[in-house]
Formats: sequence, structure tokens, C-alpha cells
Amino acid sequence: MIKSKKQGILIIISAPSGAGKGSIIKEMCEQNENLWVSISATTRNPRPNDQDGVTYYFLSKEEFEEKLKENYFLEYTSYAGNYYGTPKKQIQEHLDQGQDVILEIEIEGAMNVKKRVPEALCVFIMPPSLKELKRRLENRGTDTKEKILERFKIAYKEMNEVTKYNYVVINDDIKVAADKIISIIKAEKCRVDRIEEVFLKNEEEYMHELLMEDKEFINEPMNLNE
Ligand code: 5GP
Repeated sequence: MIKSKKQGILIIISAPSGAGKGSIIKEMCEQNENLWVSISATTRNPRPNDQDGVTYYFLSKEEFEEKLKENYFLEYTSYAGNYYGTPKKQIQEHLDQGQDVILEIEIEGAMNVKKRVPEALCVFIMPPSLKELKRRLENRGTDTKEKILERFKIAYKEMNEVTKYNYVVINDDIKVAADKIISIIKAEKCRVDRIEEVFLKNEEEYMHELLMEDKEFINEPMNLNE
């Protein structure tokens, strides 16, 4: 009786560096095959776990700036001294196929996307505490002390902007946090503004039968097309 939009949902997930966003998104993708995670381009150096074309497209500063001129990105930002950008074309293709697309981006980029795509769903992941966040950043063992401090300062600033998002999820357990975001996406799919068409035409005959059985309505037939 209801036809909902076929287009997938654009989901923006932000979190301070070290809040566990990557692990949560991985868990979500294992639970839900309809999710597609956008691959950003960056000029930062790859970490040991990074794979070009899988975790990021690693570009030189010149290559990135060339793509900027070509209007290749939906949004881009400069974060901790490096460029990061979201390629536009693939996102639209996946949304049109009905897949839900995740953008794993920081707050400035998130707000820029929200301006261009107001129906995007914005979720912020918080660490359980600042102490825990610092411990996770240090344990990662991939950044220098200065870089960790820089990321920690950005994280602190970002957490103050949580109210700009639609939802907040605290990551004290990866599975629980992933379940919560999957539930948020399910709820989003039920919103009435995702309805494209309500068609009760096929139900008319049945409705007439019901009305005929009901004596009170016989003298006063209802116009079903009203
Ligand atoms: P990392 O260097 O730890 O992989 O990422 C640093 C920050 O940049 C994270 O908050 C991450 O979500 C964000 N980020 C990654 N890709 C993009 C992007 O394409 N655009 C924006 N605005 N932020 C991004």
C-alpha cells in the first residue's frame, strides 16, 4: 500500500580520532550487506594497516589539488596538516542502486555535506571518556607524540560540537554501538518523508465489501476517492 523511495540513505559517521569508528563500521557491514562505505582520498602517509584503494586513495598534494580543480569531491577538508576528500561520483551510483552509503568523515566535512544533502543522517560516536581516548590513541603506536597531541586537541574540540549531529552513540562496546547505529538506520527507513506514494486503489473492492456489511454505512456510502 506504500511505495518508499528506492534511493539509499546517506549516513555520515564522525568520531574523534581513536573513538573506534573504524571497528564499529566494520561490525555494521558484517551485519548489514546493504551498506557501502565510501573510500576517501587523502594526502596523509599510509599506516601499516592501510591499503591504497581500500582504506583510502593515497594521493600526493599535487594530485589532490588537481582533483579539486576537476570538482571531483563532494566535500574536502584539511585535517592535522593533510587533505581529505570524499569522491562524488561513486556515492551517487551506490545511492541510486538503493544501497545505504556511509561517509566516515570529520565534522567540518560532515556539516558541508549536510548543507548539500539535508536529508543525510548524521551520527557522532563518542569515546567512553577522554582518558580512554588518550589511551587508545597512544596504543595505536602509529603516530608521533606531537601528532597524538594534535589529534587529541582536535578530538576535544570536535566533541563539543556533538549537538550538530542527529544522533550520538557512545562506544564502550563495539557490538552494542554497531547495533545501535543499525537500529537508527532502520528507524530512518520508516520515516514518512521517505514515502514516495500511498496507493490504496487495490484495496477499494475489499473496503466496499466491508462497508456493505456495516448497516450504518449503507445509507451513507463513503467516497473512497475523496
Ligand atoms: P585518519 O587520518 O585517522 O584516517 O582520519 C582523520 C580524520 O579525517 C578522521 O576524523 C576521518 O573521519 C576524517 N576523514 C577521512 N576521510 C575524510 C574525508 O573524505 N573528508 C573529511 N572531511 N574527513 C575525512
